[in-house]
Order: sequence, then C-alpha cells, then structure tokens
Amino acid sequence: MRKWTIIGSGQKSCRIKTGLYLLFVLLSKHLAAQDIHYAQTTIDLLTGADMHGRGYVEGGHLKAANYIASEFEEFGLQSFSLNYQQKFPLQVNTYPSQMRVKVDQQKLLPGVDFLIDPSSPGIRGKFEVVNITLDTLLTNMTEWVKLVKSTKKVICLNKSGYSQLTQEDKHVIDGFEDVLKFNRSLTIPAAIILIETKLTWNISQKLNDRPVFYIKLTELKSPDIGRIQFNVKNDFLNDHYSQNVIGLLNGEKTDSLIVISAHYDHLGRMGKDTYFPGANDNASGVAMLLNLARHFSFFDKPKYSLLFIAFGGEEAGLIGSQYYVSRPIYPLAKVKFVLNLDIVGTGDDGITVVNGKVYEDEFDLLNRINSKKELLNDITSRGTACNSDHCSFDQHNVPAFFIYTKGGIQAYHDVNDRSSTLPLTEYEDLFLLLSDFIQDLD
Ligand SMILES: [Zn+2]
Repeated sequence: MRKWTIIGSGQKSCRIKTGLYLLFVLLSKHLAAQDIHYAQTTIDLLTGADMHGRGYVEGGHLKAANYIASEFEEFGLQSFSLNYQQKFPLQVNTYPSQMRVKVDQQKLLPGVDFLIDPSSPGIRGKFEVVNITLDTLLTNMTEWVKLVKSTKKVICLNKSGYSQLTQEDKHVIDGFEDVLKFNRSLTIPAAIILIETKLTWNISQKLNDRPVFYIKLTELKSPDIGRIQFNVKNDFLNDHYSQNVIGLLNGEKTDSLIVISAHYDHLGRMGKDTYFPGANDNASGVAMLLNLARHFSFFDKPKYSLLFIAFGGEEAGLIGSQYYVSRPIYPLAKVKFVLNLDIVGTGDDGITVVNGKVYEDEFDLLNRINSKKELLNDITSRGTACNSDHCSFDQHNVPAFFIYTKGGIQAYHDVNDRSSTLPLTEYEDLFLLLSDFIQDLD
C-alpha cells in the first residue's frame, strides 16, 4: 500500500515499461505456442484417413489442395486462377481396393509385412513358389537363370545376408533381381523379394509387366515359402490431373518476389486398408508454409512480395514443380529466391540446406540469424541435389534452397510417418529462422 503513495513519475513509467515488457513476453510466448498449435492441427488434418495419404485414390490429393486453398483465402492471399489452383496432367499407378497376400497359412499386413512395387500390375490366384537364397544363387548362377527362364512358378529371392556381401556380389544379385522384375521374356507370374531392411514405399508413373512384392523377413513365420496367394488390384490412371496451389502476398517491394514452396502430395493408398500419412514428408513443410503465410499476412508485412506454392505431384517425380517452371505465374527472372521446405518435422540434429554451398551469401545470412538468436544447434550446407521441388528452379538458374531437418524419428515413406509420433522438435526455432531470413534477404 505504502509503495503506491510514494511512486514518482519515473518509477511509474518504469513499472509501466516492465508491465508492457511482461505483456510482450507473454504475448510472444502465446504467439509461439499458437504457431506450434497451428502446425500440429494442420499436420493432424493433412494426415487424417479422409485425406487418403494425399495420393490419387479417393481424390486425396484434391482434398488436401482444397484445404490449403481455403487457408490461403483465409489469409487473404491473391489468387491467379479458380481456387488458387494450377492444374497439370499426370499418369500414375494406384491401388484403390484389394491388396491381399497370403504366404502358406500366414496373412500378411500391407505396409507392415509387405509392400508392392509401385509399378506392379494387379494379380489374382494361388501359385507355387521357387525359393532362392543368395548363397545358392552365387554358387550356381547359370542353373538358376536357366530355371527362372523356364518356370511358371513365382520366384522368391531371399536377400538375407545381402548387406554383408562384397560390392561385386551385390552387383551380381542386383542384376538377377532386375531380370526377375523387368525381363519381358520370363513367364513367372510374380517375383517376391525377401528383405532385411525397412519397407520404404514409392509411387510410380509407369506400369511393369509383372508384379513384384517386397516382404520383410522378420515378419515371416518361415522364409521357405510353399505357396503364395494374391488378390491385388491396380488402377493405372492414364489421363489424370493434379494441381499446384498458388497464392501471392504483396510486399513493400513488388518488383521481385520470394517463392516459398512445399509439396503437399504423398504416396496415397496401398489397398483400401492402408494409407501412408506422410506427416514429416511433407505435411510438416506445408504446415510451415501455411504458418509463414499466416504470419506475413497478419503480423509482419513482408519486404518483398511472397509467392506461396504448395506443389502437387512431387512424389511421382517433381511433376507439379516441373509444370510450374514451364508455365510460371510470374517470370522466373523476377524470383529473388526460392525457399523449398520438405521434411521439417524433427530438428534434433539441426537442418541441412541443399544449395548452401552454391549460394554462400544467403547461407551466411541463415547462419548469422541462427547464431544471433541461438536457434538450431547445427546448419549443414550441401551442394546441389535433385531431391525435391527446388530442383525444378535449379534447372532454370533460379537461386533456391531446399531445407530439411535432421535427427529424431526416422520414419520415411512408410506407414509409421504419422502425426502422433512426429516430434516437431525444432519447429518453432526453424519458423523464427525462416521468417527472419525472408525479411533480411536483400
Ligand atoms: Zn517429400
């Protein structure tokens, strides 16, 4: 009580300042908390079963694109087309329905026990199996090749011990595996490859002659297979369309712009019971892109105009970004820099910057901000690598970084890349680093 009676004006303003400071700290903490909350909500939504792994079964890719467009609209981004979308054609092989494999008496779980090679056609029926181990194959290659060329049974190549082979032997085995998969003159109905490594799926634009299945050795009751039963249906989409989602936010300078990109598509479904959520790859990057769009729309007017592009068709071979650079909405010459985000949901070991070795000034800027603000514990620079959508810009000499986080959960292109186990360890620090970098670029 007494204190109040003796407060001088100086002390009062100091107290107000302290109060304002506390309010600022609370508010900025609140904003930060909201960012992570926004990211979590976005990732949960994009990885939900109703998005079907953002692939080409049940229109999963389009649902994700529409969601992103609705967020762009919410942030007041400018659109150049209907619903922010730029359509592009693509061909893709899909598995919308049956995906059953039974080995002797054991029913296998899609995505957990086995994967189908994404270029495989469907197959139905019960088949006898010829089992080949690496040892027997390497000691008697000629005999096995002869047998494979004449049999109508399913061939099962057991790759147990592959990692311990010499490089030379690995080449021999790889060659034999390729014959099983691709040789058109063979009459085998399917090939099975038993593997010790993790199951990593993909998506394909082509269709091979015969189906190939990868089965995890640890999940099999016996690696010596008597009979195998398949009921697998594929649907090759010849004239399909997907889309990029593109929104512009005008900055103080509108003569050039910064592109912020992240692909939103993923691998979709492998049968009606299994989908690939793609939380880290790349719901995390989309969350970051939307978070930045939201931040610059509502809280911090950008210096340069920002073009936000959520690319489609990345997993099928950078289809969306290749299409974009061939029909850009703004001349590519006006793009000051591209920031491509793909797999940014961990960060325990920092980040890697592809093209960091190419654009050294921009890489130095990232490091300066990072040191000053004490954000990530490591920023590693790499040279060029055509491993995400920045590559499409690289090919047109548009300066670009591709940033991904390192460490933490190793789920990748598998059914375990889920929202519930994605740690988002350095999400907020990366957000702070990128938002500063975007404003500090010259
Ligand atoms: Zn990706």
